[in-house]
Amino acid sequence: MKDVLVVGGGPIGSYVARRLAGAGYEVVVLEKKERLGEKVCCTGIISPECIGKFNIADCVVLKRVNGARIFSPSGKPIRLWREEEQACVVDRADFDIYMAKRAMENGAEYRFSSGVSSIAVHDDRVSAGIAGNGVGIEVEARAAVIASGFGSKLVAELGMGEAGDYVVGVQIEVETTNIDEIEVYTGHELATGFFGWLVPTEERRALVGLLTRRKASLYLNKMIALLKERGKVTSDGMEPVCRGITLKPPKKTYGKRVIVVGDAAGQVKPTTGGGIYFGLLSGEIAAEHLKKALEVDDLSSKRLAGYEREWKQKLGQELKICYWARRIFEGLSDKKINCVCDIITKYGIDEALLQDGELSFDWHGKAIVKLAGQKMMSRLSDIIR
Ligand SMILES: Cc1cc2nc3c(=O)[nH]c(=O)nc-3n(C[C@H](O)[C@H](O)[C@H](O)COP(=O)(O)OP(=O)(O)OC[C@H]3O[C@@H](n4cnc5c(N)ncnc54)[C@H](O)[C@@H]3O)c2cc1C
Repeated sequence: MKDVLVVGGGPIGSYVARRLAGAGYEVVVLEKKERLGEKVCCTGIISPECIGKFNIADCVVLKRVNGARIFSPSGKPIRLWREEEQACVVDRADFDIYMAKRAMENGAEYRFSSGVSSIAVHDDRVSAGIAGNGVGIEVEARAAVIASGFGSKLVAELGMGEAGDYVVGVQIEVETTNIDEIEVYTGHELATGFFGWLVPTEERRALVGLLTRRKASLYLNKMIALLKERGKVTSDGMEPVCRGITLKPPKKTYGKRVIVVGDAAGQVKPTTGGGIYFGLLSGEIAAEHLKKALEVDDLSSKRLAGYEREWKQKLGQELKICYWARRIFEGLSDKKINCVCDIITKYGIDEALLQDGELSFDWHGKAIVKLAGQKMMSRLSDIIR
């Protein structure tokens, strides 16, 4: 019997596997795909803070960026730019393979084409039933880490609930004229209640995508048409890919012998839908709690509750504030978003925030609270109401 079985070989599952295998535990990663790096749906933007903390190698970084241009629905740009590097775009397929290789180097075993269809929790072990090619096979371990990303039924089946809210992300790779900066598009015509993006990756290549609650392909087609009309996109290459993003965690992320991490646990920034950094931070906490629990052979629900307490202490407030801000933004008409953008530029709020340093690529909560407390924002509150 293994010590830990990890369901899902995405970046967060692989990170937890690496940490536990590195501590000498026997770890098996069960991944439903035939191989990693296939059918990825992610823009791959992470911060230098994330790169540094998790020691992510340069070989997976496609581009480094200092800022972004945000377009109001009327097409006016706000440029958020700093001298220092603000974000890196990683090749998401290479990133998944890289994270898995690091786990393998520490001794984690990977089994591909091994979709887990059920998890049974017993007094002394957990057992995972495998679907697909491995039907009928059961894998047993002392504990399970569920890192199966968005929409996995396993979490609900274990009685931990479902994502409290979610949105759909859709993306396509395109050819561009030489775009150098990240562009973000707002407005109900393109991404109702959310936003769309054009993210340069390599020379004359970029990712175009958006978040929406409905009609993802319709909005994506509109966005590509607009970008072609503006001479930014020259042709759309591949098939679009589409995936859900959790905006609110399920009601529980631990149970007897089980821990849930990453997108499956809703460890995602509700403002942007970015989940790599928060997932890795939580993965680190998960690995530490599991290591200690395995050491003393106490994998009770009570013992593993410490994991949820700690990740919520680190991220809980941030997630709540950002979710609240997201819901307010979603309720704004284009006219109101235009007004908000005008006020931001008129009063130099963009510059003030950039200089203040509260607004970072990963942490938005403090900046949102500060913004809400500013005098000139009372004008904004009137607009929003
Ligand atoms: C369009 C889009 C753009 C995004 N852009 C960004 C971005 O720029 N920056 C950022 O930080 N985040 C971004 N995200 C979010 C980011 O992709 C996720 O937060 C991140 O992938 C979470 O990693 P994970 O390991 O938890 O889950 P995943 O990456 O989803 O990995 C889960 C793995 O589990 C496997 N799996 C699923 N079910 C089973 C099963 N039953 N048995 C076995 N294996 C299973 C899957 O095949 C997959 O390999 C984006 C998301 C979308 C949809």
